[in-house]
Amino acid sequence: MTFQSLGLIDPLLKAVTEQGYTTPTPIQAQAIPSILKGQDMLAGAQTGTGKTAGFTLPLLQILSQNRPKKRTPRALILTPTRELAAQVGESVATYGKYLSLKSTIIFGGVKIGPQISALQGGVDILIATPGRLLDHVEQKTLDLSKIELFILDEADRMLDMGFIKDIRRVIALLPKSRQNLLFSATYSDEIKTLASSLLHNPCEVEVARRNTSSELVKQSVILVDCARKSALLGEIVGKNKWKQVLVFTRTKHGANKLSDYFNKIGITAAAIHGNKSQAARTRALDDFKKNKVRVLVATDIAARGIDIDALPHVVNFELPNIAEEYVHRIGRTGRAGCEGEALSLVCIDEADYLKGVEKLIKKSIPSRIVEGFEPDPTIKAQPIMQGRGGRGNSQKPRSNDSQRPKNRGEERGRNDRDQRGERNQKDTKERFAQNTRR
Ligand code: AMP
Repeated sequence: MTFQSLGLIDPLLKAVTEQGYTTPTPIQAQAIPSILKGQDMLAGAQTGTGKTAGFTLPLLQILSQNRPKKRTPRALILTPTRELAAQVGESVATYGKYLSLKSTIIFGGVKIGPQISALQGGVDILIATPGRLLDHVEQKTLDLSKIELFILDEADRMLDMGFIKDIRRVIALLPKSRQNLLFSATYSDEIKTLASSLLHNPCEVEVARRNTSSELVKQSVILVDCARKSALLGEIVGKNKWKQVLVFTRTKHGANKLSDYFNKIGITAAAIHGNKSQAARTRALDDFKKNKVRVLVATDIAARGIDIDALPHVVNFELPNIAEEYVHRIGRTGRAGCEGEALSLVCIDEADYLKGVEKLIKKSIPSRIVEGFEPDPTIKAQPIMQGRGGRGNSQKPRSNDSQRPKNRGEERGRNDRDQRGERNQKDTKERFAQNTRR
């Protein structure tokens, strides 16, 4: 299977070759020919499968083959987040570099003026988040009446984020006759309802959720007390000389705190979350991609759809309370043929979440305990507070390791030590396994 055999034109083949892609991914092989035929599509694919090129390449081809005299928006790609819009925009520009189509990205959190100028200059393709797009329509700086292709990217996330009303408002502004593509990683009833009202005779394509079955992501768990997670992660990143690691925290405050901690111990880090300005988020992501910062600490929303080529490490500093989010998180690594590692730091409070994740992915994740960071057996599980001041943040860390009970004196023989270590590990794992709050 080659890109040529999918029916793509030379300027696109040239751009794809320049990207170093030799073979279409499964979603590309299935989606490209059908989209080129003008069919509507319901595609089950998540980030990391090559879905962006899967819809962008045929879209560029269709638009380049019938050009109206006046440049006007003919394709609209809606995404849930600004980061994803920026990324899709980059892909459109990259794959379309040998075609004379123009695209622009529209999202909130930045000045509207430059977007208005770009629209006035004439654009063929819009990549947008719903809110700002509707602002433009209201201000009459944008006309959607000539849209031929409408793409909803990561539709499930858009619904999760409460965009359904905005999506319906956008759809109402589009001409009746158009081609619609809906991409979603999951199929809830809400997605099915949206799909049935939006799509006409869609062809359905689906590729496996990569990370539930993927062998490319090596998953592991370290059992550790909440208050000692920062110190442990600092040591892991430092000792292993990790150069690029994306760390997920549950709260914005937690993200800031951890990023500050890393910077304090001399490991460059930045945080991205909803309270940061768009400029700060873009800068942090850019610095991370260019290896200027080693650690990017993110909350789930901020990290949605983020695509970093060959990202080697993802760390769950805290497990998400929704198991599906774990799959989305670790989907940031092990992409497009590169191996990745997903490490989760789990404290006793999160034992339940871990069970939920393992149930979802239908396998148990190997867990271990790091010497010097053994969980304190006297700490009992507490409910996790969602937000500032959660127990994970408020617990006092031990001031330093020298105060930790030394149960492994040098005088003891190595065998004795190993046996004790194994027993402790077993006890701790059992304690975590037995801990259920629900
Ligand atoms: P996506 O699922 O669109 O976020 O793409 C995931 C990653 O796969 C991106 O970094 C793309 O550059 C890369 N990619 C897309 N198509 C291919 C391909 N055919 N071969 C290799 N890498 C690809």
